[in-house]
Amino acid sequence: MASRMHAAVVEQFGKPLVFQEWAIPTPSPGQILVKTEACGVCHTDLHAAHGDWPLKPTLPFIPGHEGIGRVAAVGAGVTIVKEGDRVGVPWLYSACGHCEHCLSAWETVCGEAQFGGYTKNGGFAEYILADPDYVAHIPDGLSPREAAPLICAGITTYKGIKEADVRPGEWIVISGAGGLGHLGIQYAKVMGLQVCAVDIDDGKLAHATRLGADLVVNAKTAGAVEAVRKGTGGGAHGVLITAPSLGAFRQGIGMARKRGTCVLVGLPPGEFPVPLFDVVANCLTIRGSFVGTREDMAEALAFAADGKVKADIEVQPLSAINSVFDRLEHGDVPSRVVLEFEST
Ligand code: NAD
Ligand code: ZN
Ligand code: ZN
Repeated sequence: MASRMHAAVVEQFGKPLVFQEWAIPTPSPGQILVKTEACGVCHTDLHAAHGDWPLKPTLPFIPGHEGIGRVAAVGAGVTIVKEGDRVGVPWLYSACGHCEHCLSAWETVCGEAQFGGYTKNGGFAEYILADPDYVAHIPDGLSPREAAPLICAGITTYKGIKEADVRPGEWIVISGAGGLGHLGIQYAKVMGLQVCAVDIDDGKLAHATRLGADLVVNAKTAGAVEAVRKGTGGGAHGVLITAPSLGAFRQGIGMARKRGTCVLVGLPPGEFPVPLFDVVANCLTIRGSFVGTREDMAEALAFAADGKVKADIEVQPLSAINSVFDRLEHGDVPSRVVLEFEST
């Protein structure tokens, strides 16, 4: 095995990533080394590289939390995976396993959780160190490039829809029809929901229709909220907001039906005003949702393995990451870019 690996590194917030050769890490007891085959590019990677959020990663770091690859080496004591298994290294990189949240299968909010491509180096590199207890197990029949977007965009929207407390036949708004949203639309349809897709880009909305959305509304048009309320017969039972834009949050609350649930998933930096009277008088629920648990991961992947959900991907090499980031920032990525690594 080679001793050095290519990596795209954030050296300074807000600056292009730098291509460097790093030493391939050695797994300590309880860790594994994964040889990356593919890694999706999530809008979160852009927030990470910009230092957008209150808790910032320590520089320098390697982003990427949709990395899929084969286990190349296992540290002492590892039994849950073996060399050659295909795994994914997700945002929820590890958790303590013992706190009240871990014990109640809410490991996503563990106070000691580590995050892939953020507090731990991620998949924009040829090798990734991982915690075998928290990797995704990729079903046979899913290629690395197909699996990559599922381990963040897929699980996050699948879990978010579950958190919206909606039943088959009811309406859900999916606001933001990009990397997350284009999978959210598909999960919502498979779960028997009526889907209203909202975006600011007519191309994304046309694609949403192709993916099965029953209604599409351009958020930029005058009367967008009214159009959703009318088209859904009084507002959607659930609203899943994936857009990385504060305006989408204020708008999304207005799209909810009385007693509806708004699930906040997008993470633009900042705050948004909540129309208190409307939320109280209409008995709305506003809820955050953060990726998903390991059980959600297995479920989200199973839908894809059964052919019911399929990520739309554009494949690029690691060397293209800076132009991909630029396009993602400007809304010019149709669905999801997946970086593919040469198999050697
Ligand atoms: P993306 O750039 O692929 O897609 C965003 C979409 O939102 C685009 O289609 C864009 O046109 C649309 N949009 C922009 N402004 C809008 C508006 N005002 N109204 C409606 N749509 C609008 O991004 P992505 O990879 O899907 O990530 C989206 C957000 O979700 C990011 O902020 C990311 O950090 C966050 N995220 C959160 C979690 C979580 O666990 N909560 C997980 C993954 C990503
Ligand atoms: Zn992500
Ligand atoms: Zn914990």
